[in-house]
Amino acid sequence: MTQLHYREEDGKPLSQVIRDRLKQNNKRFWAGDNISEYVSDVEKDTLINEATTAFEQVLDTLLIDRETDPNSKGTARRLAKMYYNEIMAGRYDPAPGTTAFPNDSADRYEGMLVVRSELRSMCSHHHQPVAGVAYIGIIASSKLIGLSKYTRIAQWCARRGTLQEELCNDIAREIQKATGAENLGVYIQATHGCCENRGIMAHSSLTQTTVLKGSFKDDAGTKKEFFDNIKMQQEFAPR
Ligand SMILES: [Zn+2]
Repeated sequence: MTQLHYREEDGKPLSQVIRDRLKQNNKRFWAGDNISEYVSDVEKDTLINEATTAFEQVLDTLLIDRETDPNSKGTARRLAKMYYNEIMAGRYDPAPGTTAFPNDSADRYEGMLVVRSELRSMCSHHHQPVAGVAYIGIIASSKLIGLSKYTRIAQWCARRGTLQEELCNDIAREIQKATGAENLGVYIQATHGCCENRGIMAHSSLTQTTVLKGSFKDDAGTKKEFFDNIKMQQEFAPR
C-alpha cells in the first residue's frame, strides 16, 4: 500500500492522486465499496474543498445563481460535506470497532438474537435516499458483540451508494465477520426515493430483500423463527 500523504508538487487534484493509488493497488472503488484504508482524515478535508468547487460548477451549469440566491450560497459546500461526512461516510470511515465478549461458558446463550436497525442509504443509480429497517438475526457462536454494534455495522454498510440487494449481502458479510456466526439472516424493508420522487412516483412502494446463511437457509424451523421474530418486532414498532 502506498503512502497516504498528498504532495502539492504532484500538481494533480488530490482525487486523481487517490484514484491512481486505488488503481495501483487493484482496489475496487465502486459506490458501495469502503476505501478508508486509502484516504486519510487530512486528505478528506482537502477532498471536501475539491468537491465544493466541483459542486459549484454543477450549480453554475444548472443556471442557479449562487451569488444572489441566499439559499444557494453555501449549497456547494453543504453538499460536499454531506457526501463525505454523512450520506457516503461508510465509504471513507473504517469499520466500527466491536469488542467481542465470550459466549462459551456452560450457561452460554444458545437462542436466536434478532436486532432491528434503522437504515438510511442512497441508491447508486440516482443518488436518491433509501430509508428503511434491517432485521438482523443470528444464532450466536462462541462470542457476542454489544447490541448497538449490529446497528452500527448495518449503518456503516448503508452509508454509501448502494443497491438494496447488495446492501443486504454486505450487512450479512460484515455481521458474520464481527460475530463469527455461521447461522444468520438479514431482512431489509425499505422505500426508495428513486421510485417515489421521480420515475414511477410510487409513494407507497416497498422493497424487501432477504439473505439467509447456514441454518437460517437450510432449517425450516430456524427460518420460521426468524420471520416470526420479525413479525413480533413489527407489531411492537410498525414502520
Ligand atoms: Zn435509483
